[in-house]
Amino acid sequence: ILNYSYVKNLRSVLLVESEFRELAETDYLTSILNRRAFIERFAKVIAEGQCGYFMMLDIDSFKLKNDQFGHDVGDKILCAMAHCLKATPGSDSFGRIGGEEFGVLLVGDDPGAATDFAVRLLQAIRGSVPPPHHYTCSAGMTHFSVGADMSVVLKCADRNLYAAKHNGKDCVYLDGEPVTASR
Ligand code: GH3
Ligand code: MG
Ligand code: MG
Repeated sequence: ILNYSYVKNLRSVLLVESEFRELAETDYLTSILNRRAFIERFAKVIAEGQCGYFMMLDIDSFKLKNDQFGHDVGDKILCAMAHCLKATPGSDSFGRIGGEEFGVLLVGDDPGAATDFAVRLLQAIRGSVPPPHHYTCSAGMTHFSVGADMSVVLKCADRNLYAAKHNGKDCVYLDGEPVTASR
């Protein structure tokens, strides 16, 4: 009897532990990985000796959307964005890394696959919410090598995102150059 109740208690402790872990890793609004969990995943990918591409996305003129249509519509746009990340095949993982900023990890060294993913994702985003609440996203992308320094990778993606924002938005930059469908 003692053994039975011990196993039963252990089971419920483990269940609670896994529920807490899931809560701690999940963004409350969009139900995708939160910043901490995404960064942990990125660190693991690097530690495993993998290389790939990192993409940082930021919703365009999002403050204006909130101001025009209200915070609830803004929240729905954030959820639509998360849905696009889930529905676009080709990524290793993705997460909400800030208010209206998202990160995507692509593993493997194929630049064609990475730029193709970026183009498909931005296309999906454009069509994910009907007017008048439709929105767009800008993105900065960078390659990361085996053993890369994550903070350098994040900074490089951020610089490319900045270039995308300053060259008309609704586009992706990789290594200082715009990404196009045929690249
Ligand atoms: P840019 O195109 O340059 O990125 O402009 P922006 O308006 O998107 O950027 P800015 O940094 O000025 O505004 C970000 C806005 O995101 C402001 C903030 O209220 C909104 N925001 C952040 N988190 C949330 C959230 O959880 N829900 C909603 N509805 N809005 C959020
Ligand atoms: Mg932002
Ligand atoms: Mg923005």
